[in-house]
Amino acid sequence: MSAPVASSNSKTVPFTRAQIDEIRKTHPTPFYLYDEAAIRANVRKLNEAFSWCPSFREYFAVKATPNPRILQILMEEGCGGDCSSLGELLLCERIGMTGEKVMFTSNNTLAKDYKKAAEMGAVINLDDLSHVEYLDENVGTPDLICFRYNPGPLREGNVIIGKPEEAKFGFTREQLFTGYREAQTKGAKRFGLHTMVASNELNPQFFVETAVMLFELAVDLHKELGIRLEFVNLGGGMGIPYRPGEAALNFEVVGNGVREAYERLIGGTELDPLTIYLENGRIITGPYGYLVTEVVHAKNTYKNFVGVDACMANLMRPGMYGSYHHLSVLGKEDAPLDLTADVVGSLCENNDKFAIDRQLPQVQRGDVMVIHDAGAHGHSMGFQYNAKLRSAELLLKEDGSVDLIRRAETMDDYFATLDI
Ligand SMILES: *Cc1c(COP(=O)(O)O)cnc(C)c1O
Repeated sequence: MSAPVASSNSKTVPFTRAQIDEIRKTHPTPFYLYDEAAIRANVRKLNEAFSWCPSFREYFAVKATPNPRILQILMEEGCGGDCSSLGELLLCERIGMTGEKVMFTSNNTLAKDYKKAAEMGAVINLDDLSHVEYLDENVGTPDLICFRYNPGPLREGNVIIGKPEEAKFGFTREQLFTGYREAQTKGAKRFGLHTMVASNELNPQFFVETAVMLFELAVDLHKELGIRLEFVNLGGGMGIPYRPGEAALNFEVVGNGVREAYERLIGGTELDPLTIYLENGRIITGPYGYLVTEVVHAKNTYKNFVGVDACMANLMRPGMYGSYHHLSVLGKEDAPLDLTADVVGSLCENNDKFAIDRQLPQVQRGDVMVIHDAGAHGHSMGFQYNAKLRSAELLLKEDGSVDLIRRAETMDDYFATLDI
């Protein structure tokens, strides 16, 4: 992989060093900071791109940023929630997101999770043919049922999500036909179809192809079984430009491409109107969340190391996937990038690195470093290894003020489950 060009930083932040210093008086680093105005503007753009489909809905993948305040903001913008566990269902329920505003896309699911989903009136999306009976026995078959399709070798996947045929998720094509028939005999009357074959995908055409795949399948299901699907859920997986210079996915191109496919395959047929759903996480909040951390040490051995007060327990993606997250040193955005260093946390794990051989400005103890694109699959993947604590989450509001939307864990939280 080529190193980024040593030139000034093309990724910006919506706050200044002075603002961060003010915030640090009450909230010590490390902390997450989410940009409310940018999140709202972004979701509006997505909704606009699909406004040709009157009942379109984005079900935000709760696991990406499971914070009630963020979920509330998204709900105000018309989003539903996509859950995969009992805890995520409860989180939605607590903020008043229930009924068909909740999509329950789980796998290897426990009966108690299905029970809660049914009790909330959520759309239940089954991951396996055997769950048609499991759900019927444990909870009863609801009126509305959805199945997750795994196209296997028909689609390529990518490095993050892997090959569909290797994935543990979903029904085969043949199983779908059996499943709908079986659900119908068990009393289901309304049907949806779901797939999730992308992760961090930046090519808009990929999502158009997914729509074509599901539209064609909807036509085949109608022909063979006489069932008229109510919606297709194209899943999530829209990517974000983690690296400077990468182009952002254009919602309009995706929306228009899906619309053309709709008009060609569904429009004017008995399947019209067919609702389009998405369940993105990353692209909704990812670029608008920042992990703010302070430089605490510099070390020079066989290489240069910059030590910060955040670690992999706060943001796991670089250590786990080797993912690139852009770094800015506040106030040094225009300084020459003449230091090559690994940026590290304090875990006793050598993959606790936010960056390897990154070109940075000369940094000093006390500098504030901002880790970009941490707003999805960031805080939520945090853990307590090495007795590290999860950080606070803060919301930068539209008027420039800041709200604490999750306090930092304390040592009392760490000891709360122990009997000493
Ligand atoms: C994780 C997940 C999503 C969201 O993925 P993003 O890459 O954050 O868009 C959507 N649907 C399902 C079923 C998921 O597991």
